[in-house]
Amino acid sequence: MTAEGSHAQTVRGAGDMDPEAFRRFGHRLIDWVADYLKDPEQYPVLARIRPGDLVRALPAEPPGDAEPFETVLDDFERLIPPATTHWNHPGFFAYFAITGSGPGILGELLAAALNVNAMVWRSGPSATELEQVTLDWLRQMMGLPPSFIGTINDTASTSTMYALAAAREADPSLRVRDEGLAGRADLPRMRVYCSEEAHSSVDKAAIALGLGLSGVRRLPADDRFAMSVDALRDAIAADRAAGVRPLAVVATVGTTVATGVDPVRDIAEVCREHGVWLHIDAAYGGAAALLPEMKHILEGSEHADSIVVNPHKWLFVPVDCSALYTRHDDVMRRAFSLTPVYLTTAEGDAARNLMDYGIALGRRFRALKLWFVIRAFGVRGMQDRLREHMRLARLFAEEVERDPHLELLAPVNFSVVVFRKLSSGADEEELDRINERLLERLNASGEVFLSHSRVKGKYALRLAVGNLRTRERHVRRVLELIRQES
Ligand code: PLP
Repeated sequence: MTAEGSHAQTVRGAGDMDPEAFRRFGHRLIDWVADYLKDPEQYPVLARIRPGDLVRALPAEPPGDAEPFETVLDDFERLIPPATTHWNHPGFFAYFAITGSGPGILGELLAAALNVNAMVWRSGPSATELEQVTLDWLRQMMGLPPSFIGTINDTASTSTMYALAAAREADPSLRVRDEGLAGRADLPRMRVYCSEEAHSSVDKAAIALGLGLSGVRRLPADDRFAMSVDALRDAIAADRAAGVRPLAVVATVGTTVATGVDPVRDIAEVCREHGVWLHIDAAYGGAAALLPEMKHILEGSEHADSIVVNPHKWLFVPVDCSALYTRHDDVMRRAFSLTPVYLTTAEGDAARNLMDYGIALGRRFRALKLWFVIRAFGVRGMQDRLREHMRLARLFAEEVERDPHLELLAPVNFSVVVFRKLSSGADEEELDRINERLLERLNASGEVFLSHSRVKGKYALRLAVGNLRTRERHVRRVLELIRQES
């Protein structure tokens, strides 16, 4: 055999799999996933490891020679699940609980298999057009008008940053795209407004876009954790008087901690009066707009300029999948499109090129999993699951309200309950410590995982229902564990 022939054989033999080996390992993996999803409770929900444990259990250097894939899979089974916090566990109630449903997982598998990079239409026609269709389905499901055109990003943080970049681009007189912000004495300061309850991604977007943290004004929220529109009006008026340019308002539908809903219609009115871009962060709460009885949460959003909702949060699509809609597709494109010669295509304007809608040139085929999920559940299937999650949250909240040793700290607008334990005679500081310790003990149980925050200054526990495997018994178990601690 020639040296070239033996090299080719080595290259063929090592690393990648022939189709039969792929089939064999694929079956083994799918079996593993099916068993895992059948019983995620076999693991403690919160990983029982300390920082650095997994690093120490893994070789510090990469293998020089090819390893048998059996060994790799054995190591996965031995090392990774125990070092994982199991978002699939039905006792996962932390942050916003989520579900990467079966159809979504299979969609991910196929997306990896096709390995499409949808930079331009011709490099990924199916990814580009399926994204267009599935996002239009989702738009209809949420009751948004057809003027909203969507693209899929990795996260809501990215989507919000893009929305604010578009807000800046919407005023061509600023010439930020061409001239930037640095050293521009001709530009006024620019401001983005949101409530004190808005997600930190608004601040991160301001950092990334050169507006700076002081470019964000956080306005007071009321008892229902909704933005005060009067405060918004006052802030915009004061800024205008001081020569600051109001750029955008970010209204939240389903705030991160207490799931407050900002009054979108009134905010939209203010934005219209002042010619300010309105972005709606409905990353979590937007899902609920699938329900006819919850449509009111997006009332007024037809006047918004952009809106983000994350199907990977409460619509059973595996991470990552964030849908960003805008009524100004042209402005969004203007903010980011830049076509080097090697990416020009004969299709020209006849085709949508996803690279034009953000920083990333390459785009994953994320629409596949969204397509699978919407079709496998059907709109009614999704609605049933959302209703059930909201029922479980209400049930938990009613128990909290009935129990003199517990206190509800926020209205239950969706599927999240914010509460704390009370203790007679304890002052606020002691209550904080009592609840911190309670959370630690609950989470050490391995059966449940809740998260915490501060709500109007009080240390609060949060129970978020969003996992398809969560049943009433799991929610009741949290109460039992809390009561055992008393
Ligand atoms: N917006 C809201 C209201 C959120 O609660 C979160 C995260 O939980 C985000 C945005 C950020 O989401 P992502 O992780 O997709 O960036």
